[in-house]
Amino acid sequence: MSLAETDPVIADLIAKETVRQQDTLEMIASENHASHEVMEAQGSILTNKYAEGYPGKRYYSGCGFYDEIEQIAIDRACQLFGCKYANVQPHSGANANFAVQLALFNPGDTFAAIELSNGGHLTHGSAVNVSGKWLKPVTYRLVEDESRSDWGYIDFDSVEAVMKEHRPKVLMCGYSAYPRTIDFAKFRAIADKYDALLWADIAHVAGLIAGGAHPNAFPHCQIVTTTTHKTLRGPRGGLILTDDEELSKRFNKAVFPGSQGGPLMHVIAAKAVAFGEGLKPEFKTYSAQVVANAKRLAKELIDRGYKLASRGTDNHLILIDLRPVDAELTGKTAAVWLEQVGIIANMNTVPNETRSPFQTSGIRMGTPALTTRGLKENDIAQIAGIIDRTFRSKGDQTTLAKCKQDVLAICQKFPMKHA
Ligand SMILES: *Cc1c(COP(=O)(O)O)cnc(C)c1O
Repeated sequence: MSLAETDPVIADLIAKETVRQQDTLEMIASENHASHEVMEAQGSILTNKYAEGYPGKRYYSGCGFYDEIEQIAIDRACQLFGCKYANVQPHSGANANFAVQLALFNPGDTFAAIELSNGGHLTHGSAVNVSGKWLKPVTYRLVEDESRSDWGYIDFDSVEAVMKEHRPKVLMCGYSAYPRTIDFAKFRAIADKYDALLWADIAHVAGLIAGGAHPNAFPHCQIVTTTTHKTLRGPRGGLILTDDEELSKRFNKAVFPGSQGGPLMHVIAAKAVAFGEGLKPEFKTYSAQVVANAKRLAKELIDRGYKLASRGTDNHLILIDLRPVDAELTGKTAAVWLEQVGIIANMNTVPNETRSPFQTSGIRMGTPALTTRGLKENDIAQIAGIIDRTFRSKGDQTTLAKCKQDVLAICQKFPMKHA
């Protein structure tokens, strides 16, 4: 029996969501379209088995094929990122980060990370996350002085200052809303100077690193965590990587039994498939195109009068400050108008923000999903024009309806291959 017959309510919602994805332009910087093959593995009978433990060291019988699958996922992850040890079991990026924190810290320990409003992630010390409740984050910032050519880039003076003052045992880099290349070597030099371990959370740029479109975190970082579903285009999941055998053992214990139970073996199989895709030459082409598309999007919007955080991008995302074009327009309203025309993006705080995180003056946009659908620079230029008309529409329904037609035409030209 098919799902449509046994549970038509859920089947119908999945069908509607498929149409929604087909008929909209997905520009949330952290989202992508996983391949049919990734989803085939993720939707497989591998979901049925408990495989607590690690390859060759399971608690239950019947894990032989699971050992092989998990070992392949581990080997491919290590090959993809050029490191020695991988834990492929974290259920998500947040779980990977929690496991690392459990392995490295005692409650009350200090670690350095970016100020959250400057592009960090909740798991990097937010007061509402366990990382901020049980640990003590000390923070560095982006360059705030707009007269400087590196405005909006990491302020390495503030990195050094926080390390010098607090001497935390871990320095974190890697962000959720940072449009520039991360200089891992520079971070490592500072970490070494203050006897700290360097931890990179590459959740956003993992796919660019895998495809050679962003410098690798290895060999500079002793600890690397990531998601597998953003630029890396795999199933929803997390990953912990290291070159250090002793750390890898601590991370394995912190994942299981420290913070998780049975691994999601169907997802681990899908991760193996995605890492396999990442190792192919096509993925290099893909990640280069993601960056080329984001750079074109940045240029088109700057040409139309928008201000971009750090004045542009090196990677897959941009942060648009709407204020120079419309001082009244909030990121929240702009995101609603964009959704009306079929462009999906999220509001975001911008440098020198004057509004609350619930209103914001900015929009974050990325190109990973559009690039997966096959869009190139000229298509992105056309979309930039639609985005500009939407932002300047003042909410006029006729204008928004016209924009929606233009979006639909692009969506039909680039069908989602994996649906
Ligand atoms: C997305 C993200 C995470 C969390 O990933 P989830 O899979 O949503 O738990 C962690 N760190 C960074 C930097 C991220 O951007």
